[in-house]
Amino acid sequence: AIEVKALHKSFGALEVLRGIDITVRRGEVVCVIGPSGSGKSTLLRCVNLLEEPTSGTVRVAGVEVTDPDVDIDRVRRRIGMVFQAFNLFPHLSALGNLTIAQRRVLGRSRPEAEEVARRNLRRVGLAEKEDSYPARLSGGQQQRVAIARALSMGPELMLFDEPTSALDPELVGDVLAVMRGLADEGMTMLVVTHEMSFAREVADRVIFMDGGAVVEEGPPEQVVTDPRHARTRAFLARVL
Ligand code: ATP
Ligand code: MG
Repeated sequence: AIEVKALHKSFGALEVLRGIDITVRRGEVVCVIGPSGSGKSTLLRCVNLLEEPTSGTVRVAGVEVTDPDVDIDRVRRRIGMVFQAFNLFPHLSALGNLTIAQRRVLGRSRPEAEEVARRNLRRVGLAEKEDSYPARLSGGQQQRVAIARALSMGPELMLFDEPTSALDPELVGDVLAVMRGLADEGMTMLVVTHEMSFAREVADRVIFMDGGAVVEEGPPEQVVTDPRHARTRAFLARVL
């Protein structure tokens, strides 16, 4: 589970997060939507301390990550993160991309890491691509390798930051299908996305952010289909 309380983040004089309260329970899928610059990525980056919050608390899987004494590397290992840019190692095959952190960070043996990697490549539908280098894979396949790489670390929860927005439209569906499968398996997921059909069909709750604050939050049939706030309606009118 993720618990964010009174989270503030400023970059110099720019206040990007103005007091965010969010809870993602175990097994829940929460989608974050909102206009460009509203602070969605910053929120995600504060959850695994890629950004240091200015104030407020973030608890992940029972550990307060904002506690200065916390071993953040240990916490990060429990959090899988997938970005818009796939960030695969270009000089490693798909299998190599999935095994390197398992071996270096978790200390798994090569056979053990490869077994986990193959299982996760199967899970994202890319079992036959284990020897392929990123340059020989489509964007959608690269993103699925990136998801499989995160899964190979055995995360308790997954953060996704617009994982499909760099993809050609015809490649988006395969990636969303993998994410939907993870949701069905009970993975805890916090997903920033512009894919409203995904939010509507997969999310347990949708959070609409604007100007560094949560404007509206609720089940998708409310927030996406029947929003209460004018700002949510205006945003949805632009993206739907
Ligand atoms: P998008 O939909 O375009 O991805 P977003 O909602 O993810 O937008 P953020 O990336 O969180 O928005 O950015 C929120 C604000 O914080 C923006 O005004 C951005 O310019 C600013 N910002 C983000 N990171 C930094 C940084 N490292 N230094 C200074 N300003 C930053
Ligand atoms: Mg962003």
